[in-house]
Amino acid sequence: MLFTANQHAREHLTVEQALYLAEQLTGQYGTDPRITRLVDGRVFWIVPMVNPDGAEYDIATGVYRDWRKNRQPNTGSSAIGTDLNRNWGYKWGCCGGSSTSPSSPTYRGKSAFSAPETAAVRDFVVSRRDPGTGKQRIKAAIDFHSYGELVLWPFGYTKSTVVSGMSADEYATYQAIGQQMAATNGYTPEQASDLYITDGSVDDWLWGQERIFTYTFELYPVDPDPGFYPPASDIAAATARNREAVLMFGEYADCPYRAIGKAATYCAAADDFAMSTSPASGTVSSGGSVTTTVTTTTTAGNPQQVTLSASGLPAGTSAVFLPPTVTSGGSATMTVTVPTGALPASYAVTVTGTGTGVTRSTSYGLGVDGRAGCTGSNDTDVAIPDLTPVQSPITIGTCPGNAGAASSVEVHVTHPYVGDLTLTLIAPDGSEYVLRDRVGGSADNIDQTFPVDLSGEVANGTWQLKVYDAAVGDTGTLTGWRLSL
Ligand SMILES: [Zn+2]
Repeated sequence: MLFTANQHAREHLTVEQALYLAEQLTGQYGTDPRITRLVDGRVFWIVPMVNPDGAEYDIATGVYRDWRKNRQPNTGSSAIGTDLNRNWGYKWGCCGGSSTSPSSPTYRGKSAFSAPETAAVRDFVVSRRDPGTGKQRIKAAIDFHSYGELVLWPFGYTKSTVVSGMSADEYATYQAIGQQMAATNGYTPEQASDLYITDGSVDDWLWGQERIFTYTFELYPVDPDPGFYPPASDIAAATARNREAVLMFGEYADCPYRAIGKAATYCAAADDFAMSTSPASGTVSSGGSVTTTVTTTTTAGNPQQVTLSASGLPAGTSAVFLPPTVTSGGSATMTVTVPTGALPASYAVTVTGTGTGVTRSTSYGLGVDGRAGCTGSNDTDVAIPDLTPVQSPITIGTCPGNAGAASSVEVHVTHPYVGDLTLTLIAPDGSEYVLRDRVGGSADNIDQTFPVDLSGEVANGTWQLKVYDAAVGDTGTLTGWRLSL
């Protein structure tokens, strides 16, 4: 696994991020079991300062110079410097995502790898190919930048998701891990080109050329103030914030496809098995139980003992397997018991089989219903135009008394820029509850369940979900919502 930082001179916090990770991986080794396991099972390479000349120039006078590029002279021009993150040799200069002008902050250089810094990191990465098979041994990488609080994945040179060099499964894997990491650090997850088109970036090269799963993190902050230059007192919190995301990605590094349940397809071991659930989803009322069958299938080599477990369950929920351990080829029942008061919502449960050789998983969709007679849904598509509020109704007629303190609203919206949107629940008497107010920036889509205390509202009547797109330029669709009182 490779970490690179400070391609851009003024992004000093990225160096701190790299040093923080070095400190964690060494200082916590032997103390923290997760880190010990990771360091035992991986090789980590850390390049904390890809652009030392530029970084030094930025601070040399004691007043920040807002410098981005390296300090390489350009023949025929008095302008200095190449933007290192536009100088990599995959689709270099292809697509309007870099400049041909030496005076531009995004000057791509006279040719791919014309900068000594990118050439040096390229040579290092290429040197990690297995000398016998030629196969790249680095499996995962993060390139740190600032600022914006984003988790970005390839490609940057095109708005397309699935293209030559990026299959649907590969894209789904990038998206799944990107979203999971972002859920831990509060960043916005998106394809790099959702921000703007870039060509000649390191992540496009590491993935496009070397097939290394690579993310770009844009670190703290979101806003231009403090922008590239947060005070030293912000370093500790801003770097520790990414600990969980980095560890999670590190744990996926041996087989990122595990994130989409396709480890057996893409990372088959000599002795291997696949898992499935039947039925693949189920619905339960809070306080009740639901059962499914978990089947293991030997897909390569010899059968092995597999111990079953589940994660992603609502708080307080148990999953009991009978038997708890099977020989691959066998099956078990999984009984999920949901406590009263569990938040009514759809849960993506991961069922994991820990074998003697490999660990495999599959998914199970768990729907938790609210009180009988107190739920409703509306799956009629409603277009969301710019600057015009739209509403979708749900009528409840069989729910006694008031709604609950642990009511919930599950919302599904497709939209290319959810930071435009305000979601409001309107009770039958007209009271409004703002669920979400223009957060999430340029992230795509909302698939979220919002807990709301509606104990002051009479349950029966017509409820409305109001969606308002407060900005022009992107439109979307409310594809459905669900109310549980
Ligand atoms: Zn940068």
